[in-house]
Amino acid sequence: VSAAATPEERAFEAGLRPRTLSEFVGQRKVREQLSIMLEGAQGRGRPPDHVLLSGPPGLGKTSLAMIIAEELGVPLRMTSGPAIERAGDLVAILTALTPGEVLFLDEIHRIARPAEELLYAAMEDFRVDVVLGKGPGATAIPLDLAPFTLVGATTRSGLLTGPLRDRFGFTAHMDFYGADELALVLARSARLLGVRLTDDGAAEVAGRSRGTPRIANRLLRRVRDYAEVRADGVVSREVAQAALRIYDVDGLGLDRLDRAVLDALVRRFGGGPVGLGTLAVSVGEEAETVEDVSEPFLLRAGLLVRTARGRVATPAAFTHLGLEPLADGLG
Ligand code: ATP
Repeated sequence: VSAAATPEERAFEAGLRPRTLSEFVGQRKVREQLSIMLEGAQGRGRPPDHVLLSGPPGLGKTSLAMIIAEELGVPLRMTSGPAIERAGDLVAILTALTPGEVLFLDEIHRIARPAEELLYAAMEDFRVDVVLGKGPGATAIPLDLAPFTLVGATTRSGLLTGPLRDRFGFTAHMDFYGADELALVLARSARLLGVRLTDDGAAEVAGRSRGTPRIANRLLRRVRDYAEVRADGVVSREVAQAALRIYDVDGLGLDRLDRAVLDALVRRFGGGPVGLGTLAVSVGEEAETVEDVSEPFLLRAGLLVRTARGRVATPAAFTHLGLEPLADGLG
């Protein structure tokens, strides 16, 4: 189970998406800052600054982009870095924008370099230079764009080049949600889905949702099925526990990659220290994925620490895997 969404899940999520800032649970600081910025821009009758949202998958970056457009009362256009392979792809999108429109660019760090360079002037001056021809005879034709707001999303803002990062007037880092916030997300989803969820049932699911609303909603679906098929339809703590046991959901909510990383670190490398690259190879993943998706959660859960010599498992990691912590060192 990973934090990324399958197409089928996307459809299910669409029905649960918060539509306004006030429906958006948690991330209080980001919400407050955004709300002030949006109101200020509306008062001036100008599109707000470009917004960069960074953070692991499933924490609500797409939802926030939709909310920004909704709150501004303007259309939203969505695309992603990998979809923009050539500068021309971006020109086509930018020139089609209507005044004030919000452009959501997911995985912005994966945009092709020539397109990224074009984005600089587009963001700064609402202008693109379309180059016709090659070599000394090439001419640049400037094209004016309608003023727009770019909302970029990335798993880590550190992956962005400096010039691109500098062109965002507002940058927000989304962090994992606390169990109490996830319980609120679950209560809201249960209401929308017509699921009877008790407070302690919500707390039980929240505690195993890996700090991620997407996973909370996913687990709610599983426990709902269980409650309907094997119990009286009510998701209580006992029902949630029994359901999650069947679906192999870890007590801390670790997903498959988290567990593989932890397992390799503890069992294969004796608790570390081990370098990120070596660790990534041993779980068959790219270093970037381990660093941006798994590691932030393992750090936050207190299962892993970063040291100058590499990644090290904490005693809690050993205990979580059912092993005795080592007598010396951290692990
Ligand atoms: P990805 O980068 O993988 O696309 P994301 O960060 O864009 O993920 P979203 O698609 O916005 O995440 O959120 C996933 C689901 O989690 C949404 O459908 C929504 O139901 C729920 N969700 C996310 N954040 C919140 C929140 N703050 N309050 C309520 N529900 C939320």
